[in-house]
Amino acid sequence: MRLVVLSGAGLSAESGIPTFRDALTGLWARFDAERLATEAAFRADPALVWGWYRWRAAMVAAAVPNAAHRDVAALSDDGHALTVITQNVDDLHERGGARDVVHLHGRLLASRCIGCDARLTPDPILAPPPPPYGGTLETPPACAGCGAPFRPDVVWFGEPLPIDAWHAAETAVDACDLLVVVGTSSLVWPAAGLPDRTLRAGSPVLEINPHPTPLSPRASAHWAMTATAGMARLRARLREGAGDLLRPPRR
Ligand SMILES: [Zn+2]
Repeated sequence: MRLVVLSGAGLSAESGIPTFRDALTGLWARFDAERLATEAAFRADPALVWGWYRWRAAMVAAAVPNAAHRDVAALSDDGHALTVITQNVDDLHERGGARDVVHLHGRLLASRCIGCDARLTPDPILAPPPPPYGGTLETPPACAGCGAPFRPDVVWFGEPLPIDAWHAAETAVDACDLLVVVGTSSLVWPAAGLPDRTLRAGSPVLEINPHPTPLSPRASAHWAMTATAGMARLRARLREGAGDLLRPPRR
């Protein structure tokens, strides 16, 4: 079966990674996410924004994949063709074993020159020393080629999604036999529109989320549970044949 998993912050929250807004503590508490996660904010105060991302990157590097990440990856071992589309900027799907991962919102553990897109190995966003507990202001390194500062390789407010990632996501959701939407509020566009492409193509959409979302009324099924519980249940159902998941979508 061709499976696509579309994942969001709920999956990584179970690994202890704070959501975007929950990462505004201590030093960062007087800022709001919309003001830290823009190119304008970075250009106005590079040390503030780079320091925030360095701290978040260090938290991600110290986190480990949870059972949901491992169960997503294990769908390949179960014999399915799997594509993971994630709105998460961490690398926990990859470290959980998934091989085909599309990052719609970029990657927290990578950086690039804001002037010429140059990259460095090892990546300076993970360079020692790691930021102290709670993070600190830190001037980003300057590009040896053009002198501009390095920026995190994430999608900021007001920026388009990476075009290759978006096309890969569209292709995957159009052609899958089942789309599983897990741990996402389905509020952030354009990612929130991907399930409708699967439904239009005639395949079912399963939503796994403890709470109802704007997608819930349109989803073929909604399982009100955490990502770890939901992914375990999904693997069991698929092993049984998954008849109830593969009914035609609601009209
Ligand atoms: Zn440069």
